[in-house]
Amino acid sequence: MPLDPEKRDSLPSVSTSTGAGAAGCLDVFRNLFVNDKIKTAKHQQPSNEKPLDSTLPPAYESHAEYPEMSQVPTTAAASAQAQADLVEAWTKNEFAKAVHEAIEAVSTELRQISLQLHSNPELAYEEYKAHALLTDYLEKKGFAVQRSAYGLETAFVARAGNSDKVTIGICSEYDALPGIGHACGHNLIAISGVATAIGLQVAIQKFNLEAEVKLFGTPAEETTGGKIVMLNNGAFEGVDVCMMLHGANADVIYPAFLALDTVDVEYFGKASHASASPWEGINALDAAVLAYTNIGLMRQQMHPSQRVHGIIKDGGQAVNIIPEYTKSTYTVRAPKWDEVVLLKQKIERVLKGAATSTGCTVKLTWGVPYKDILTNEHLVKRFEHHMNAQGLKYASKTEQLSKLSGSTDMGNMSYALPGIHPMFNILNLDGSDYPMGLHTKDFAHAAAQPKGHTATLRAAKSLAMTGVDCILDKNLLKQVKHEFAKSTQQ
Ligand SMILES: [Zn+2]
Ligand SMILES: [Zn+2]
Repeated sequence: MPLDPEKRDSLPSVSTSTGAGAAGCLDVFRNLFVNDKIKTAKHQQPSNEKPLDSTLPPAYESHAEYPEMSQVPTTAAASAQAQADLVEAWTKNEFAKAVHEAIEAVSTELRQISLQLHSNPELAYEEYKAHALLTDYLEKKGFAVQRSAYGLETAFVARAGNSDKVTIGICSEYDALPGIGHACGHNLIAISGVATAIGLQVAIQKFNLEAEVKLFGTPAEETTGGKIVMLNNGAFEGVDVCMMLHGANADVIYPAFLALDTVDVEYFGKASHASASPWEGINALDAAVLAYTNIGLMRQQMHPSQRVHGIIKDGGQAVNIIPEYTKSTYTVRAPKWDEVVLLKQKIERVLKGAATSTGCTVKLTWGVPYKDILTNEHLVKRFEHHMNAQGLKYASKTEQLSKLSGSTDMGNMSYALPGIHPMFNILNLDGSDYPMGLHTKDFAHAAAQPKGHTATLRAAKSLAMTGVDCILDKNLLKQVKHEFAKSTQQ
């Protein structure tokens, strides 16, 4: 359903991508944080964290290599005490206490797993060490583990619980980026899922809750979206809600992920001598150039939050031959998936028009679409409540939506079942933003620091409690599902 203009005007504008076209969770993370507000924010105190060098590869060894890291502030002592008081009050609730203690009890083990993943970054669909490490650990913790699940060698599902009345799904990612390792912090996402699952497992066992937790190991988020394959292979059937966490340089529960699709465009013409008999040829490069130009003209009629960007990959073989074949690739992005669908129709008209006017034929091959995130309000309010209870306050929804933009396969999940994808700041624990982009070496370094670990466990406790709330409060689950049905109906 197209958005009405009023609603659309309230959507965030987006930045130009700096990443690969097809996918990648946060390939267009906007670095909005180097501004006056941030310069005057709470960044005065120097870091007193020690580097975790013994287990890290040389690239991550020294703060000196990443001078920005030496400026990472610590939370002020006074607010740390206030935070401790809040946590004490929060854990008067017996469920929060159980979750809190269960996750704290495995903190050291999870830290080791996180650093091992960080020291051994594996690319999409090659996450063999991560798969082994995580599944062995989960099995030791009493989960029933299915390795290489749902058609993917490096995917898994681990389950715990005593009933299938309510099934809470959690996702762990663990793929890394070429050259810069865990620059998206998926080592932290991996342990955030494990911590959340353990928190839920303990709560279910201790209070004999009629519920099940399923932790999904989801490979290849950075490339072609392992979750989409798993979704298509039935992994999430019977799961009531599916949630995950992602580290970032800001605390955001309403992430403005973009929906996208990518198309390969091939024009087929006829070769001829470019000087002796050009009239006998059909020029496939003319078609590609016309398409590129007409998309440029079309931009005037596009909403400013939408993007179409492309390249000509193959423009012909020799200057004295009329090109008989060309290949281009375009990525189409918009804040909402239904906008991408409409934009695709316009783009197709332009691409086909270029074929008609040159006499070429055209073949369009659309890729794997990534949808935007449908943040379930009822779920995210519970998560927010538990983060507030641990001392973390969020900016307004509008401000949050203006901060980040990227694309993730969790978006497709959020259209298939109710979910949330909160982002947690791994650099500042006090709710203030930090001027560091994801997919950078600095962020990879930060993903191995103790502060990131602390932030991960705090968020995991909140996510586990969000799951507990869904199990305990049948009315909440009903509301979550009702909202989901409403937001996905055409
Ligand atoms: Zn990423
Ligand atoms: Zn990521």
